[in-house]
Amino acid sequence: MQTGIPRERRGGETRVAGTPEIVKKYVAAGHTVLVEKDAGALAHFPDAAYEQAGARIVDQGDALAAELVLKVRAPDPQELALMKPGSVLVGMLDPFDADGLARMAAAGLTAFALEAAPRITRAQSLDVLSSQANLAGYKAVLLAANQYGRLFPMMMTAAGTLKAARAVVLGAGVAGLQAIATAKRLGAVVEASDVRPAAKEQIESLGAKFIDVPYETDEEREIAEGTGGYARPMPAAWMARQAALVAERCKQADIVVSTALIPGRPAPELISADTVHGMKPGSVIVDLAVERGGNCPLSEKDKVAMVNGVAIIGYSNLAALVPHDASALYARNIFDFLKLVTGAEAQLDIQHDDEIVAACLVCKDGKVLRNA
Ligand code: NAD
Repeated sequence: MQTGIPRERRGGETRVAGTPEIVKKYVAAGHTVLVEKDAGALAHFPDAAYEQAGARIVDQGDALAAELVLKVRAPDPQELALMKPGSVLVGMLDPFDADGLARMAAAGLTAFALEAAPRITRAQSLDVLSSQANLAGYKAVLLAANQYGRLFPMMMTAAGTLKAARAVVLGAGVAGLQAIATAKRLGAVVEASDVRPAAKEQIESLGAKFIDVPYETDEEREIAEGTGGYARPMPAAWMARQAALVAERCKQADIVVSTALIPGRPAPELISADTVHGMKPGSVIVDLAVERGGNCPLSEKDKVAMVNGVAIIGYSNLAALVPHDASALYARNIFDFLKLVTGAEAQLDIQHDDEIVAACLVCKDGKVLRNA
């Protein structure tokens, strides 16, 4: 089977859907791999490395005209026009973007959006949300440390003692837990909040303090448990209590990393404009939820906003700032997913009754198969 790996065209996207190491595995499994010229350049995978791995370097049209196309981001209309009806597309295709799905369906693609994979043990090795969020959580803390005009660790020097930075992490999923671990490693004192009760133990196991917003009713506790590992929108009364506590903690903080998301919905507002105005000048907020409206209404996508001396970092694609490692993990995720849709001799053999395949299949035979 011809497998194409095009260069990503979306602004700021530096990742690539296949690395030379993984291409070697595809070639060994019987794929003819067509890599677009410079597809891996921004992630520091040169064309020569792909050639050594057994790929052919081709132009954009040939990479996109393959029977199987591996992408990082959903194709834009220009890319779609180069793809063949009936071909198979695998990538992070924005399963909640109804217009985007309709365009891919109209192009006649069989499309798999890997973000839609269920959060089950068997899907862990192909979980793109986790592999990329983990790196984003790490990078968020480094960006904060770089912006912050002081140090993270407590430091005793002959010229005096410097106090440790205080970090607050909001949302303790994959990105938040990595942000906690990274801030701890750099020497900050860390506390964190999440709606899900399971998060308490995970936060504490990393040596951070849990910001406890007690549940006052059975309904609050039941909603907080979430579904399929994901959070659900909490009742207004709980959100108000959380907001008051978060405002108080943020005023004491030097660094705030916010990662709170609810699938398919706008990000919950956790850091109000008033809270920002109450924060210390020089403190830094990194809002990882910016693409979905932000956990802070003052965040600006792909910018650093300065409000009252507080820097609010709103970069929307943090994994793209560590493109080599992000691509390596992502390429591995795709490779593991393809085991579920290809059979011997690298032929397509889509296991429709597999729950992971069924969840990820968003377009087939001109139809959108998911209610975005
Ligand atoms: P996510 O990116 O959807 O959301 C980030 C975090 O924000 C979540 O922890 C969520 O509970 C939290 N959040 C939502 N509203 C909030 C609010 N008002 N205040 C504070 N926090 C709020 O989540 P994620 O990182 O994708 O992880 C979600 C869950 O899935 C976690 O429990 C994670 O451990 C689990 N998970 C399981 C698997 C697996 O078993 N295969 C893989 C990955 C993640």
